[in-house]
Amino acid sequence: ARQRKIRNFSIIAHIDHGKSTLADRILEYTGALTTREMQEQVLDQMELERERGITIKLQAVALTYKADDGEEYLLNLIDTPGHVDFTYEVSRSLAACEGALLVVDAAQGIEAQTLANVYLALDNDLEILPVINKIDLPSADPDRVKQEVEDVIGLDTSNAVLASAKAGIGIKEILEQVVQSVPAPQGDPDQPLKALIFDSHYDPYKGVIVYVRVMDGKIKSGSKIKMMATGKTFEVIEVGAFKPRMTIVDELNVGDVGFIVAGIRHVGDTQVGDTVTDAKNPTPEPLPGYRKINPMVYCGLYPIETSDYVDLREALEKLQLNDASLSFEPETSSALGFGFRCGFLGLLHMDVIQERIEREFNIPLITTAPSVIYHVTLTNGEVMQIDNPSNYPEVGRIDYVEEPYVKASIIVPNDYVGTIMELCQNKRGEYVNMEYLDTTRVTITYEIPLSEIVYDFFDQLKSSTKGYASFDYELSGYRQSNLAKMDILLNGEQVDALSFIVHRDRAYNRGRIICEKLRELIPRQMFEVPIQASVGTKVVARETVKAMRKNVLAKCYGGDISRKRKLLEKQKEGKKRMKQVGNVEVPQEAFMAVLKID
Ligand code: GDP
Ligand code: MG
Repeated sequence: ARQRKIRNFSIIAHIDHGKSTLADRILEYTGALTTREMQEQVLDQMELERERGITIKLQAVALTYKADDGEEYLLNLIDTPGHVDFTYEVSRSLAACEGALLVVDAAQGIEAQTLANVYLALDNDLEILPVINKIDLPSADPDRVKQEVEDVIGLDTSNAVLASAKAGIGIKEILEQVVQSVPAPQGDPDQPLKALIFDSHYDPYKGVIVYVRVMDGKIKSGSKIKMMATGKTFEVIEVGAFKPRMTIVDELNVGDVGFIVAGIRHVGDTQVGDTVTDAKNPTPEPLPGYRKINPMVYCGLYPIETSDYVDLREALEKLQLNDASLSFEPETSSALGFGFRCGFLGLLHMDVIQERIEREFNIPLITTAPSVIYHVTLTNGEVMQIDNPSNYPEVGRIDYVEEPYVKASIIVPNDYVGTIMELCQNKRGEYVNMEYLDTTRVTITYEIPLSEIVYDFFDQLKSSTKGYASFDYELSGYRQSNLAKMDILLNGEQVDALSFIVHRDRAYNRGRIICEKLRELIPRQMFEVPIQASVGTKVVARETVKAMRKNVLAKCYGGDISRKRKLLEKQKEGKKRMKQVGNVEVPQEAFMAVLKID
């Protein structure tokens, strides 16, 4: 009976279409939080983040809503991360729901992540309720956007709510639709426990807090549970709901969304998508869709100050407590010393981790260029997975090399079709197809090497279309490619941290651009510094940093001490971000220079 009054739903949207604003409004409308409380909560969370170096986001919230039919409903709103790096997590969060609100901006219409999210929702058989948001904008054209949703997605929009999350218009209609159109959870309370893990976070006092949706059976404190993918067993200490603050309850029943505390020390033991069952009376089959998540992008992180090495390790360990998808292992570079090879889900994930290490842990870093994982098949048949150019085998031992490709979907106004095609072709893309969304916009699909996306694809896409393009991608598989390792030599010495993998057709061009970049970035030294780019033993490009002509301090001759000191201090400051490589001083930016190629 209680089960019939539960509605589990998510909000999906392209970035900036109003997902967070709508969620806030829904919380407010159902009285879960007052506006003041909401602001306080947000502030609290930021402070906590800073203090403990962990992210606390709104993963799920339980709301009660008294509907027009006079009944009271329990609405569980499950938040999803809004970035392509986290597609798997999004899909698992959606798997915990029966329905999704599809928010589309009434001025912008469908964008790339609108579609990507709709596909994920359809994969999970969700009831999708379209919401046309921002109807308060003068440029809003709800009829056009409704038509677009019908034509492109094939959803009936006759009941689509016209809303303004900002002005609080349409909120009640949205909640009524959730109650009426999102199915109540199915599942059998008398079957053995079967619960989906859709998220988790680490709490220093309680250990890992596991976010679950109960599919069958029930769970309460004292139960012995088993994680089916990892095989780990635990005894449940507490179960609870998000009301919206975490509140302990007696038990979680079929259909419920809540959390489990079970003295779990590692987030790695609670993998997103895994099935929690009863250890003594297990369910025969785990839930479908579980995947072990693997990093897609790797880079080296090195402390600028050698003495920060131990602190950097501690920072990574702390971040990993809460983020099972971050991987790292020690690595040494002859150029950069002791550091770590780190694996990330994607570029955003990488940026976030770097930024947090620098800002929250106060450790200035040198980052080496990101690399994807290459599959190198040797002449003896052995296959190596290479995530670090330094480990790339000698050319003579290689039979062939494969690299990961993605299927990229780009939505743009018609006028930019030529621009996008040129950009994709420059990135070694292969045209797949083009479909018109309406008379003014198209979806262009290309297969592109992931390594090209990892460079500055997104920035170039934005700048070449004045921000009008939206973009989404998914991994499509490995393909054979004509690749080689390019090495950079400074003053005749190979700098391992600057090596990267390049397509042979582009080697000459990239080598030339990088040598020019490095010449600009490396300051003059007391001696001439040749810069060379080579593939194997063949030098493909060369530049020279000229020697310094005279001592800069000579200018201060005449004894203005304070000026002299200032100059020395300035030089010292500059040096902090320099790394001594052999006998050459190299600034931090140089290690990222291989990235920025137009
Ligand atoms: P999200 O990225 O989907 O979570 O989008 P946000 O909720 O953060 O909203 C993005 C921007 O759009 C913010 O500046 C909001 O204030 C604004 N916004 C959201 N809903 C509305 C709306 O109904 N009308 C208008 N005019 N602006 C809105
Ligand atoms: Mg948001």
